[in-house]
Amino acid sequence: MAATILDGNKIASEIRAEVASEAKAMTAAGMRPGLAVVLVGHNPASEVYVRGKVKSSAEVGIYSEQHTPPETASTEELLELIAELNARDEIDGILVQLPLPAQVDAKKVLMAVDPAKDVDGFHPMNVGLLSTQRPGLVPCTPAGIIEILKRSKIPIAGQDAVVVGRSDIVGKPTAMLLLNGNATVTVCHSKTRDLPGVCRRADILVAAIGRAGMITREFVKPGATVIDVGMNQVTDRAEFDRLFTGNAKREETFRTRGSTLVGDVHPQVAEVAGAITPVPGGVGPLTIAMLMANTVRAAKLRRGGRIVELSRV
Ligand code: NDP
Repeated sequence: MAATILDGNKIASEIRAEVASEAKAMTAAGMRPGLAVVLVGHNPASEVYVRGKVKSSAEVGIYSEQHTPPETASTEELLELIAELNARDEIDGILVQLPLPAQVDAKKVLMAVDPAKDVDGFHPMNVGLLSTQRPGLVPCTPAGIIEILKRSKIPIAGQDAVVVGRSDIVGKPTAMLLLNGNATVTVCHSKTRDLPGVCRRADILVAAIGRAGMITREFVKPGATVIDVGMNQVTDRAEFDRLFTGNAKREETFRTRGSTLVGDVHPQVAEVAGAITPVPGGVGPLTIAMLMANTVRAAKLRRGGRIVELSRV
């Protein structure tokens, strides 16, 4: 039987509607949530992401502003900007779009963000709060993965969860959230022995690797839930054929654009999984929705109001 498709666009729009109503109530109480986005230089992909974040803020009623230091900005200049934003009461969230130019000490800049305004959840303070199950700010993509599972009524407690990928941004916080939700969690990486065998134990398999279609059906227990975080552009014809032979719609996209987006999970996995997130339209839309939720959450945590329970397991 074909897998249930977990529709990330639908879940993201539910979350945005909830955030919009929270933001409206806060604005009416004179506490409009505010987000500052720092975009250094002119990386085209970063510009697209930042446009999406600013547009989404406007849609849910969050105040947002963009800061665009030049490509040549120094670490000190960025630290000054972060200090200014930290000090402004109407700014609840500060997001520094990565990557930063090579001359900038990115770790130093990220560490300078006030943990209470760290809506990306990357600051070691928030990492520590997550691992000790205290209220804090959780990275957006992992928080979105949990929302997909919860809102799709997929149980987490007691399940065997396998996360492939151990990055600070996706793999590790996802594993921690699943552990906090009482799953039995295994984290895999490039040195893991018998990756297919380990993955086949999973009731919930999360792929956050960055390799097009690497997780094939041999990695998946029939009926498992598969969360595909990967976003890879396929431009090579042979690679395209390995992934999408016989898929007329993808063929059309590939022919007209010369590329198509694929996750870390091979499309054929949909034939064995019980439920699966598509790419595009799965985890991706949740990332910006959770950034909006985090901004409202940061505003409430910082200004002492009721805590938004979104993204808590
Ligand atoms: P990183 O490159 O930081 O981490 C990749 C992880 O995968 C590493 O832990 C690495 O292991 C592991 N890995 C690489 N090759 C293998 C292999 N052959 N076998 C087992 N493990 C392997 O990537 P990110 O975590 O930042 O991103 C992962 C993917 O998710 C990317 O495709 C990215 O584009 C996408 N992404 C999507 C988002 C969304 O909104 N949908 C948001 C963020 C990321 P090791 O540590 O040993 O090197």
